[in-house]
Amino acid sequence: MTDGLVPGTTAGFIGLGRMGRPMVERLTEAGYLVQGYDSSESAVDALRQRGGFSPMESIARTADGAAAVILMLPDSGVVTDVVVDGGLLAAMTPGSVLLDMGSSDPRQTRTLATKAADVGVTFIDAPVSGGVSGAVAGTLTVMVGGEPDGFARVQPLLSVLGSRVLHCGPVGAGHAVKALNNLLSATHLLVTSEAMEAARRFGLDPATVLDIINTSSGRSGSTENKWPNYILPGTYDSGFGLRLMLKDMRTALDVARSVEAPHELSRRAVELWSDAAEALDPGADHTEIVRWLRHSAQLAGAESASNSTSSKD
Ligand code: NAD
Repeated sequence: MTDGLVPGTTAGFIGLGRMGRPMVERLTEAGYLVQGYDSSESAVDALRQRGGFSPMESIARTADGAAAVILMLPDSGVVTDVVVDGGLLAAMTPGSVLLDMGSSDPRQTRTLATKAADVGVTFIDAPVSGGVSGAVAGTLTVMVGGEPDGFARVQPLLSVLGSRVLHCGPVGAGHAVKALNNLLSATHLLVTSEAMEAARRFGLDPATVLDIINTSSGRSGSTENKWPNYILPGTYDSGFGLRLMLKDMRTALDVARSVEAPHELSRRAVELWSDAAEALDPGADHTEIVRWLRHSAQLAGAESASNSTSSKD
């Protein structure tokens, strides 16, 4: 087995956004030498002065002398653009590791892993859960897909970013688990929001209801984290975009369809989130699904009131 990715290692990092930035901060803090690139200049500028960080002027340059290159990009389409068309894979040294830590489509991941293997590069998918706050604190859950040797090699680096680094299976397994996790998370959030709206209209205090649910069987990440921290205070600033959540839900639905697994509830959840994405601002945080729900419920209420008035005419 080749050496593990320990502190002191040079690593490329592409995608310095909401998640990528705090991840780079943790890596440099731990002693990794990070060569970063982002198509947004302001994303690069936010890290420019950081010790251990070198801004690179192209995708390919991030691979210079790097034992690994990490991607934290929006989706599989962008990952493929960067890896293939952007020349990253062609620039990587045989024996190095390409780590996709964003939430990508597992089937496209497997296609890219084959291309990487053809040039002697090990592809590992290592998406994360825990959000921006988990990235800042280094407490992410990291779901790893790849061969056992590759997993052992990337484990020291991933342990800087996450408190739980879990091997899910062969390449693509991490991306499949992540998409399915987010399908659950999004569906929980929507049904929690429906239940909370029913509670409010029934005259109950939302904080009291959450408190009770959080020691009862209806609890989830939505009741324990999203509702109390981003929805009740009215900030809607979890740092995870609604469109990114919808992308993950669609990926999960595609996975379910591809293996003919039952998916009726999942399909309906994707439809509702798609409606919300169309109605809300493109940059909306995913917690804003609650605002959409309330607004669409008000519209439906007004419509049924006007229908009942006109039917009396
Ligand atoms: P983001 O939009 O904040 O960051 C993405 C970055 O990629 C941006 O800085 C953008 O400029 C850059 N980028 C886009 N296209 C590029 C290209 N062709 N070349 C170079 N850079 C490019 O997104 P994020 O919230 O950091 O999410 C990144 C990934 O992590 C996504 O797959 C998302 O689903 C996943 N994720 C996000 C969260 C979260 O809470 N935000 C949590 C877990 C997983």
